[in-house]
Amino acid sequence: MGRAKAITSIILIQFILLHVTKSQQGFEESSAARTLKQESHDTHEVHCSRERSRAAWQIIDDYLMPFVEEEGYQISTDCRLHPDNDLFRDQERHKIHLDVNEWRCGYCKKSFRAERFLDQHFDNRHYNLLNVVC
Ligand SMILES: [Zn+2]
Repeated sequence: MGRAKAITSIILIQFILLHVTKSQQGFEESSAARTLKQESHDTHEVHCSRERSRAAWQIIDDYLMPFVEEEGYQISTDCRLHPDNDLFRDQERHKIHLDVNEWRCGYCKKSFRAERFLDQHFDNRHYNLLNVVC
Protein backbone atom coordinates (compact mmCIF):
# COMPACT_ATOMS: atom_id res chain seq x y z
CA MET A 1 0.00 0.00 0.00
CA GLY A 2 1.30 3.45 -0.87
CA ARG A 3 2.13 6.07 1.72
CA ALA A 4 -0.59 8.44 0.45
CA LYS A 5 -3.23 5.74 0.81
CA ALA A 6 -2.04 4.95 4.35
CA ILE A 7 -2.21 8.62 5.33
CA THR A 8 -5.71 8.84 3.89
CA SER A 9 -6.69 5.79 5.97
CA ILE A 10 -5.31 7.36 9.15
CA ILE A 11 -7.24 10.57 8.50
CA LEU A 12 -10.38 8.52 7.91
CA ILE A 13 -9.88 6.61 11.16
CA GLN A 14 -9.33 9.81 13.10
CA PHE A 15 -12.51 11.24 11.61
CA ILE A 16 -14.45 8.15 12.67
CA LEU A 17 -13.05 8.23 16.21
CA LEU A 18 -13.91 11.92 16.48
CA HIS A 19 -17.38 11.28 15.08
CA VAL A 20 -17.95 8.42 17.53
CA THR A 21 -16.94 10.63 20.45
CA LYS A 22 -19.26 13.42 19.31
CA SER A 23 -22.14 11.00 18.74
CA GLN A 24 -21.70 9.52 22.19
CA GLN A 25 -21.91 12.96 23.74
CA GLY A 26 -25.11 13.65 21.81
CA PHE A 27 -26.52 10.33 22.89
CA GLU A 28 -25.67 10.94 26.52
CA GLU A 29 -27.37 14.32 26.45
CA SER A 30 -30.52 13.08 24.75
CA SER A 31 -30.88 10.17 27.14
CA ALA A 32 -29.92 12.04 30.28
CA ALA A 33 -33.17 11.22 32.02
CA ARG A 34 -32.86 7.53 31.23
CA THR A 35 -29.23 7.46 32.33
CA LEU A 36 -30.16 8.95 35.68
CA LYS A 37 -32.79 6.27 36.12
CA GLN A 38 -30.34 3.50 35.23
CA GLU A 39 -27.59 4.77 37.50
CA SER A 40 -29.46 3.63 40.57
CA HIS A 41 -29.10 -0.07 39.74
CA ASP A 42 -26.34 -0.25 37.14
CA THR A 43 -22.85 -0.50 38.51
CA HIS A 44 -21.22 -0.75 35.07
CA GLU A 45 -21.25 2.08 32.57
CA VAL A 46 -19.86 1.76 29.08
CA HIS A 47 -20.59 4.69 26.78
CA CYS A 48 -19.36 3.23 23.54
CA SER A 49 -21.38 2.01 20.59
CA ARG A 50 -20.54 -1.60 19.83
CA GLU A 51 -21.64 -1.21 16.18
CA ARG A 52 -19.49 1.88 15.60
CA SER A 53 -16.55 0.34 17.38
CA ARG A 54 -16.87 -2.72 15.13
CA ALA A 55 -16.99 -0.54 11.98
CA ALA A 56 -13.98 1.53 13.07
CA TRP A 57 -11.89 -1.54 13.92
CA GLN A 58 -12.81 -3.11 10.60
CA ILE A 59 -11.35 -0.08 8.80
CA ILE A 60 -8.25 -0.13 11.02
CA ASP A 61 -7.72 -3.85 10.33
CA ASP A 62 -8.33 -3.47 6.58
CA TYR A 63 -6.39 -0.29 5.83
CA LEU A 64 -4.01 0.62 8.63
CA MET A 65 -2.71 -2.74 9.88
CA PRO A 66 -1.40 -4.03 6.51
CA PHE A 67 0.62 -0.80 6.22
CA VAL A 68 1.88 -1.10 9.82
CA GLU A 69 2.98 -4.70 9.22
CA GLU A 70 4.53 -3.91 5.85
CA GLU A 71 6.62 -1.08 7.30
CA GLY A 72 7.44 -3.02 10.47
CA TYR A 73 6.03 -0.36 12.80
CA GLN A 74 5.23 -1.09 16.44
CA ILE A 75 2.07 0.56 17.77
CA SER A 76 2.45 1.67 21.38
CA THR A 77 0.13 -0.07 23.85
CA ASP A 78 -0.81 3.45 25.01
CA CYS A 79 -2.24 4.20 21.55
CA ARG A 80 -6.01 3.89 21.14
CA LEU A 81 -5.42 2.06 17.87
CA HIS A 82 -3.49 -0.77 19.56
CA PRO A 83 -5.62 -3.95 19.37
CA ASP A 84 -5.27 -4.50 23.13
CA ASN A 85 -7.23 -1.28 23.65
CA ASP A 86 -10.27 -2.58 21.78
CA LEU A 87 -12.98 -2.67 24.42
CA PHE A 88 -15.08 -5.29 22.66
CA ARG A 89 -12.42 -7.47 21.02
CA ASP A 90 -12.64 -10.40 23.44
CA GLN A 91 -16.44 -10.48 23.23
CA GLU A 92 -16.38 -10.19 19.42
CA ARG A 93 -14.07 -13.20 19.31
CA HIS A 94 -16.57 -15.15 21.39
CA LYS A 95 -19.35 -14.76 18.82
CA ILE A 96 -20.11 -18.02 17.05
CA HIS A 97 -22.06 -17.47 13.81
CA LEU A 98 -23.55 -20.88 13.00
CA ASP A 99 -26.18 -19.90 10.45
CA VAL A 100 -27.99 -16.83 9.07
CA ASN A 101 -30.33 -16.78 12.06
CA GLU A 102 -28.21 -18.57 14.61
CA TRP A 103 -25.60 -16.94 16.80
CA ARG A 104 -24.04 -18.51 19.88
CA CYS A 105 -22.32 -17.05 22.89
CA GLY A 106 -18.79 -18.45 23.13
CA TYR A 107 -18.74 -18.03 26.91
CA CYS A 108 -21.93 -19.82 27.97
CA LYS A 109 -23.06 -21.42 24.65
CA LYS A 110 -26.51 -19.79 24.71
CA SER A 111 -28.07 -19.36 21.22
CA PHE A 112 -29.66 -16.28 19.64
CA ARG A 113 -31.63 -15.51 16.47
CA ALA A 114 -29.70 -12.34 15.61
CA GLU A 115 -26.35 -10.74 16.34
CA ARG A 116 -28.02 -7.81 18.12
CA PHE A 117 -29.54 -10.20 20.69
CA LEU A 118 -26.11 -11.67 21.31
CA ASP A 119 -24.77 -8.10 21.71
CA GLN A 120 -27.48 -7.44 24.31
CA HIS A 121 -26.62 -10.72 26.01
CA PHE A 122 -22.96 -9.65 26.24
CA ASP A 123 -24.07 -6.30 27.70
CA ASN A 124 -26.30 -7.97 30.28
CA ARG A 125 -24.47 -11.16 31.19
CA HIS A 126 -20.82 -10.72 30.34
CA TYR A 127 -20.16 -7.01 30.87
CA ASN A 128 -17.52 -7.99 33.43
CA LEU A 129 -15.48 -9.42 30.53
CA LEU A 130 -15.18 -6.09 28.72
CA ASN A 131 -11.64 -4.89 28.25
CA VAL A 132 -12.14 -1.69 30.26
CA VAL A 133 -8.83 0.06 30.80
CA CYS A 134 -9.85 3.67 31.38
ZN1 LIG B 1 -23.14 -15.96 27.32
